[in-house]
Amino acid sequence: MQNIDNYNFKGKKAIVRVDFNVPLDENGKLTDDTRIRGALPTLKKILADGGAVIMMSHMGKPKKNPDMKFSLGQIVDAVSERLGVPVKFAPDCMKADELAKNLKPGEALLLENLRFYPEEEGKPRDLAKDASDEVKAAAKAALKPKQKEFAKHLASYADCYVNDAFGTAHRKHASTAVIADFFDTDNKMLGFLMNKEITAIDNVMNNIQRPFTAILGGSKVSSKLGVIRSLLDKVDNLIIGGGMGFTFFKAQGGKIGDSLHEDDLMPEALSVLEEAKKKGVNISLSVATVAGDSFSNDAHQKVCDTHNIPDGWEGMDASQASLDNWKKIIMASKTILWNGPVGVFEFPNFAKGTETIAKYVAEATKAGAYSLVGGGDSVAAINKFGLADQVSYVSTGGGAMLEAIEGKVLPGIAAIKGE
Ligand code: AMP
Repeated sequence: MQNIDNYNFKGKKAIVRVDFNVPLDENGKLTDDTRIRGALPTLKKILADGGAVIMMSHMGKPKKNPDMKFSLGQIVDAVSERLGVPVKFAPDCMKADELAKNLKPGEALLLENLRFYPEEEGKPRDLAKDASDEVKAAAKAALKPKQKEFAKHLASYADCYVNDAFGTAHRKHASTAVIADFFDTDNKMLGFLMNKEITAIDNVMNNIQRPFTAILGGSKVSSKLGVIRSLLDKVDNLIIGGGMGFTFFKAQGGKIGDSLHEDDLMPEALSVLEEAKKKGVNISLSVATVAGDSFSNDAHQKVCDTHNIPDGWEGMDASQASLDNWKKIIMASKTILWNGPVGVFEFPNFAKGTETIAKYVAEATKAGAYSLVGGGDSVAAINKFGLADQVSYVSTGGGAMLEAIEGKVLPGIAAIKGE
């Protein structure tokens, strides 16, 4: 596999899949530039070598072409500023031939949102809501050759391809995987950010210093079941917090009031507890919760036993008693993986649990633990509390990180490796 460190981009045009799916406010102004900064080492190396760079990305979930709310044109200035060169913009990613052809060494071009075209994801649009499975499958099959053409067209802009978009590496899209077929092995590679992400995950999964503790939070058990199961083979402690916990409490026969839960997953929750016991994994659930009488920042609060929450109340944040238990576990750990907030941290009045966890992880890191924090919401949380530089690594990928931890092969990485 080609290695970006050894590759000389001099005189070459590189098409780079970046993850510029950045948050914007209602006026289209950038509110968090983490993902742009993450791509800079790769982009700067290409320019410094004397190459030209063509950046491509998706933003949001546009449903038509164009959908200006999701235009990457809104971040051209922000990217120019951070990259240190004026960035040209191609307002249609399929009509950038001339701009790409005329691009000189040291110059940079950004293509408009790839997802303006359904070919990028290979997902048909405009299907009737009640379309049958056959119709859906036929539409998808019809889009496949078009997706290939779309990827080939993107590939024609450049001499080499770099995938630096870890956040979409778990998707087999035109720009993340299909495009790799149009470059020979010597001219396609992973970018610096991608390599950093892979090393960080490798550190927690294959180079484990014990005790190893995973902290999982967030809203749904369903989205984390795969990762919970695979972590049971690796970790010494599994802390389960946030909305996810209430499915476990209800399954155990607890009274959870109006708390978030997934009834259909109760048997799974019980079997996870059983499996953990067999494997000697210490599962630590919350013992008491800060409940609210409505799902709002201004809800009245009271601390309830997690197995005894009255109707009309819902668990919304971790209580001090739970945090005290978790502190002991986290501080004794040498490897920590954190994904998902332990409360509705978007409401300042219910953010204390998540902020406290972030502080514990930072403290344990200071004391010598390796900590990996990932998943959209935990990253937003750690940034919000200003602790991102006090943990070992903050991953830019949510779904991609979870799938990598589950041991799944990520299509974006496999396509470069030729697997
Ligand atoms: P996920 O995408 O599954 O990682 O979930 C993240 C979301 O979980 C965040 O938006 C949190 O507000 C939410 N969350 C965490 N704890 C709770 C809770 N106790 N009740 C409802 N939502 C929660």
